[in-house]
Amino acid sequence: MRIFSGIQPTGRKHLGNYIGAIRQYVEGQGRGEAIYCVVDLHAITVAYDPRALPGHVLDTTAMLLAAGLDPARCILFRQSDVREHPELAWLLGAVTAHGDLNRMHQFRDKSARQRELISAGLFFYPVLQAADVLAYRADEVPVGDDQRQHVELMRDIALRFNERFGETLVVPHHRIPEVGARIMDLQAPDQKMSTTAASEQGTLYVIDDQRTIAKKVRSAVTDSGSEVRRAPDKPGISNLIEVLSVIRGVAPEAVEGEFDGHGYGAFKQAVADEVTGLLAPVRERYLELRPDERAIERVLEAGAERARAIASETVAEVRSAMGVGAGL
Ligand code: ATP
Ligand code: MG
Repeated sequence: MRIFSGIQPTGRKHLGNYIGAIRQYVEGQGRGEAIYCVVDLHAITVAYDPRALPGHVLDTTAMLLAAGLDPARCILFRQSDVREHPELAWLLGAVTAHGDLNRMHQFRDKSARQRELISAGLFFYPVLQAADVLAYRADEVPVGDDQRQHVELMRDIALRFNERFGETLVVPHHRIPEVGARIMDLQAPDQKMSTTAASEQGTLYVIDDQRTIAKKVRSAVTDSGSEVRRAPDKPGISNLIEVLSVIRGVAPEAVEGEFDGHGYGAFKQAVADEVTGLLAPVRERYLELRPDERAIERVLEAGAERARAIASETVAEVRSAMGVGAGL
């Protein structure tokens, strides 16, 4: 069983990434052949600072290592080090429906937020993402709920490719956690917590310290009531209930029962304590690992070499199936 997922090096990663994705990456190392990629080629599709990008790749890599990824038990690499990704993306573009790309929610959301250029890269992003996964013939893709549509699309691309050019690619499945797959912004609980659309106060970063976490949770937007229960008109409280239940590994009903009649103050305090307990060890380890940039680079280089060995084989077969390149 092969597992593949990618994560963007766009600034600081947050509680949503940690719960929705990173925890699953760590767990995947024990379940199959796990391959993880820091996707710098995806990060360039929106406004970004080229001088900061290499450092952000190191930040994200250090964060993944701090969370428990072990280069002896997984392949961890930087997307742009494996040129097969953009090559395969172009080839797969030939079996991707323009109309499907037009329907992608992420493109709509992110293009609406761009102040200057809406890049063609942002539109083509899901095809590169399909190439990331399909290059490794992965069976399973651990992601948060927001990536459901993109995984559907890569399945369609693989199926269409196999139909047109013969059985070559593996059709992957998503693995989306049942609870915690969509952690919402604390200040805007109708939007997912995000790396790029971040409201600083609404986003709990993995490297936030205890005081910062407590402050952000205390000022999380809630309704004017005092009942700790989930309801469509209580998105802020519902989100915090979900956070607490997923960290404690208990049902949301158990959280509602425990805080019944206690009001928002005590409840928020408990959420802040649990989030701190979850993230503090990762933060500490991150602060230890991050300064040794050479060591992080060595991990990425070794990972890229192993990744290339797999991806180059797939791309060679794809090229040959498509009749691209010398036919001999
Ligand atoms: P952006 O909003 O710019 O796309 P991001 O926060 O989604 O950034 P990514 O690197 O694109 O960060 O996502 C990494 C993983 O984290 C993906 O699997 C994604 O589904 C998951 N994820 C992102 N946000 C959340 C969230 N709020 N709750 C749960 N999982 C999330
Ligand atoms: Mg994202």
